[in-house]
Amino acid sequence: MTHRSKTRPVKVGDITIGGSNELFIQSMATTKTHDVEATVAEILRLEEAGCQVVRVACPDERAAYAIGAIKKQINIPLVVDIHFDYKLALIAIEQGADKIRINPGNIGRREKVEAVVNAAKAKGIPIRIGVNAGSLERKILEKYGYPTADGMVESALHHIKILEDLDFHDIIVSLKASDVSLAVEAYEKASKAFDYPLHLGITESGTLFSGTVKSSAGLGALLAKGIGNTLRVSLSADPVEEVKVARELLKVFGLSSNAATLISCPTCGRIEIDLISIANEVEEYISHIKAPLKVAVLGCAVNGPGEAREADIGIAGARGEGLLFMHGKTVRKVPEETMVEELKIEIDKLAEEYFAK
Ligand code: SF4
Repeated sequence: MTHRSKTRPVKVGDITIGGSNELFIQSMATTKTHDVEATVAEILRLEEAGCQVVRVACPDERAAYAIGAIKKQINIPLVVDIHFDYKLALIAIEQGADKIRINPGNIGRREKVEAVVNAAKAKGIPIRIGVNAGSLERKILEKYGYPTADGMVESALHHIKILEDLDFHDIIVSLKASDVSLAVEAYEKASKAFDYPLHLGITESGTLFSGTVKSSAGLGALLAKGIGNTLRVSLSADPVEEVKVARELLKVFGLSSNAATLISCPTCGRIEIDLISIANEVEEYISHIKAPLKVAVLGCAVNGPGEAREADIGIAGARGEGLLFMHGKTVRKVPEETMVEELKIEIDKLAEEYFAK
């Protein structure tokens, strides 16, 4: 697939979002930011799950002054989310934030905006403009009557212009809405209206199950069109789940170069093994594999290996045993009791070979 590559590369800590770079997975800590210990613990869990950029809320000075201590104990870029208060932005920047999320049009007087922009410039950090359909400027709502994609893009352009007028261009933009069609349309229009990297997200998408479906529908529509440079799946759930969903989404579109994928059959009357529990066990196992392997688990040998020809490795159930296969060809028979363990050993070998190349 082609991915929108004509975006401006923007550095966030030690990664670059936009340009021809991969899409980065983001999430947001759910802890009180001033509780450094709890926030760091949660961020380390997110890192372990594959989160590449993390955001924290910054509602007050206690949170802003905690940024430095948090940053020292984590390994991924830290984004600080600020609403309105330019003083908090200045503290967060001084404390070492790798990016701030603030809408310049909401900061107030020009001197305040300038102070934030100058501080961000001095530290070489970007600003994310976060347009949200639920909080569009009154002027725009009056013009369009209700939140529309055109209104959201107009809002983004308004904030962008404020930064550009101050010769600031390290900008990332999000246009979130909880209405999937509205968000998709806004991101599509934005991708044509400016070349700043886009941070994708469907906001207030819901709980683990419904939110996953909703986010996947919206983000999938955009990823299929090559739109987006970084993404956050928003769920009313443990944020580790957000990272897991984002990783799966990127894998679906071939946009993940460091994760293994499971192919498992839907099962039918030909099934010969306890496929569902085996598939879950293998999925959990490969979630820690950082090589782009395709691993198949199939219920029977009749259609198994042939149905999963694109898999690098897999097992198919046979009566009392399993067939271990690679690239559609059976390699050997393995006893049912040990077939999952043998599959894991072969997966590890393939991963080692991948990294030795
Ligand atoms: Fe049915 Fe076998 Fe296909 Fe699984 S692999 S769906 S058990 S035919």
